Amino acid sequence: MTQPLNVQIPGPKLTTKSGHEVKIGTGSGTKWQKIKKGRDPSKRGDLLPEAIDYLVDAINNGFRHIDTAEIYTTHPEVAAAIAKSDVPREDLFVATKYNPGVEPQPATFDSAAAWVDASLKELGLDYLDSILIHFPFFNPKFSKGQTVESVWKDLIEAKKAGKVRYIGVSNFGVEHLKELFKVAGGDPEFYPAVNQIEFHPYLQNQSPGIVKFSHENNILVEAYGPLSPLFRVVKDGEEVKDHPLTKVLPQIAEKHGRAESQILLRYTLQKGILPITTSSKSERQIEALAIYEFALSDEEVAQIDKAGSEFEFRGFFLGFF
Ligand code: NDP
Repeated sequence: MTQPLNVQIPGPKLTTKSGHEVKIGTGSGTKWQKIKKGRDPSKRGDLLPEAIDYLVDAINNGFRHIDTAEIYTTHPEVAAAIAKSDVPREDLFVATKYNPGVEPQPATFDSAAAWVDASLKELGLDYLDSILIHFPFFNPKFSKGQTVESVWKDLIEAKKAGKVRYIGVSNFGVEHLKELFKVAGGDPEFYPAVNQIEFHPYLQNQSPGIVKFSHENNILVEAYGPLSPLFRVVKDGEEVKDHPLTKVLPQIAEKHGRAESQILLRYTLQKGILPITTSSKSERQIEALAIYEFALSDEEVAQIDKAGSEFEFRGFFLGFF
């Protein structure tokens, strides 16, 4: 069976303040943070012009959801790109993530409350569309006394104060989510709206049962690293070239006259997950935005599921799950 072009993604519908539904996101992490942090120490405080150009390009091509994080150090680039783009602020969905402190990235703030105010300033905004707790791996040695509970309470207060429209989490497992339900005092208004996790055919559940549990509890699942099977598959330090999807994706892509990256992003959507992707290349950005123009059949999704389940690959937070 072929699916409708516009899929229904379980969980709250994310909209911009102006009311437009958010359908795909673009990131400012991964490669940009590596470039920024790898620079000559004397240049570390400087803006990274190529990251700004990329973001302006992505916005002008049609991306509205911009993903950033304290750890990426790309708030200033996001601010500059928003100021440079022709798209009004209310038509954008700006999402960032708080670092609660983990080895080797200790928390830099004593509280999420203080960080929210600092981030708004750094981003030149008077509200954020979403704030996520970057990961649940709180480590007392690195968290300045903060706990999942204290951070979530701060985010609830930020939401009540109108500083942020949606609050959520990233890399959370089922037990971590249940803990937040308790902190929210059983009030669904303050349950996490989003759980952003690594997702692709080789990691269909970042932690046991997480996609199903999130969906059943009205939490929107966002995928980071959705294109990993195309270029990131490494085992024991060696690139793997003949993994199972290499026998499946090219045929499906050819049948639809689409790029393999589009097939993976469309697959993500049809699994009920909102993809967050990144490309510095304009033509790839346009391809990513075109995933609402075609649909995979249920059989094709099942084929990708099956090939994906024959191989496991995790690209992020190794050793934490
Ligand atoms: P992707 O899986 O989309 O990978 C992006 C990379 O894929 C880029 O380096 C890009 O390179 C390359 N690429 C894009 N299109 C193609 C293509 N058609 N063929 C081959 N390669 C391609 O997502 P990311 O891993 O970048 O994650 C997306 C965002 O998610 C990040 O930027 C970040 O904001 C967020 N994230 C969140 C994490 C979390 O813990 N919450 C962890 C990791 C990421 P090129 O520029 O050359 O096109």
